[in-house]
Amino acid sequence: MYDTEMITKNRNTILKEIEEYRKKDFTYKSGHILGSMCTQPYPIAKQAYMKFLETNLGDPELFPGTKEIEKKYIKFVLKLLNAPKTSDAIIGSGGTESNITAIWLAKKITGKKEIIIPENSHFSFEKIASLMDTKTVSIPLNKNYYVDIKKLEKKITNKTAAVVGIAGSTELGTIDPLPKISEICFDENIFLHVDAAFGGYVIPFLKQVGYNLPDFDFKLKGVSSISIDAHKMGCSAIPIGSLAIRDKKWLDEISVEAHCVSSGNQSGILGTRSGGPVAAAWAVSENLGIKGYKKIAQECMNTTNYLVKLIDEIGLQIIVKPTMNVVGIRVKRPSEIIKKLTKHGWKLNKMDRISCLRIVVMPHVTKRIIDEFIPDLEKICKDVGEI
Ligand code: PLP
Repeated sequence: MYDTEMITKNRNTILKEIEEYRKKDFTYKSGHILGSMCTQPYPIAKQAYMKFLETNLGDPELFPGTKEIEKKYIKFVLKLLNAPKTSDAIIGSGGTESNITAIWLAKKITGKKEIIIPENSHFSFEKIASLMDTKTVSIPLNKNYYVDIKKLEKKITNKTAAVVGIAGSTELGTIDPLPKISEICFDENIFLHVDAAFGGYVIPFLKQVGYNLPDFDFKLKGVSSISIDAHKMGCSAIPIGSLAIRDKKWLDEISVEAHCVSSGNQSGILGTRSGGPVAAAWAVSENLGIKGYKKIAQECMNTTNYLVKLIDEIGLQIIVKPTMNVVGIRVKRPSEIIKKLTKHGWKLNKMDRISCLRIVVMPHVTKRIIDEFIPDLEKICKDVGEI
């Protein structure tokens, strides 16, 4: 198929070059990435991914084995989300794509254009507004940094295509009062999309180890669809996210006849898509199982609580008690502090809206890393007069 006469540059030279580029990257393994919602994939992900490098789930008859794995992975996700028998899921590239697909679906089902979103929604909803001719109605948060339910209820009109609720916000990991939102949406027959891109792999496990968190999934009868990302707290390899939907019949709304590939009808946004991330996510879900995910979620929370304690001890304040493994640290000069932390090798993000630093306590952020980080944070905050 390929032969040596095609070669322009020697393989080893290219691999060496690649190595040099890669050395410029930050790594999760170093523990110094404190602001990402992704992490080092659980080891089996890599092996599974590599085996499926050439597969294409956009043409599933060519890859029936890969398709079988996808069905098994979907089954895992739907069970995790307490989905009914009528449900199904579309596997895509991550939370952005799932949110886009959900709103596409809501628009098609309702024929309406207004999307009600909490003020702290992920910026993918800005892309949606720009892409899809939707009007976004943004709802302020209450003092706990989740959506103000009374204000949300008032904005529902006969133009509403969907309400979005968040289960694990990008900014602070907060959860909207979804049981109440679900009731409202059920009574008014409104499409409710839950963005659990981050929290979907956290909340079920924390609930199982005794955390008192609200329901967010299909147990709530008003929930129509849910985004959940394996490449975040699912500890799998980028890119993979799922959009779970309550009724598989809805897929017809976002399907087209797929010519020249074997799928018949194709639902969702992507055409050609790799089976690699799907195989990886399924392998991780089998390898870790519920037991493993519970342990990971619990450990992340233990480290989160440890971080909060040390933040308090050096005289800084958190924005709100963490609901999950995301911590906001209140500062007056987030940009200046971030710049200095970057010089010390730490990568984390700021939020200008709330004026804070955000740390996501992913599995690679251990107590040892927090012990290394806090003295740097303390020194920098003293230098700039924050403490
Ligand atoms: N939704 C939430 C709540 C998120 O936190 C994120 C990303 O952090 C997204 C959606 C978008 O996910 P992705 O970057 O995988 O597209």
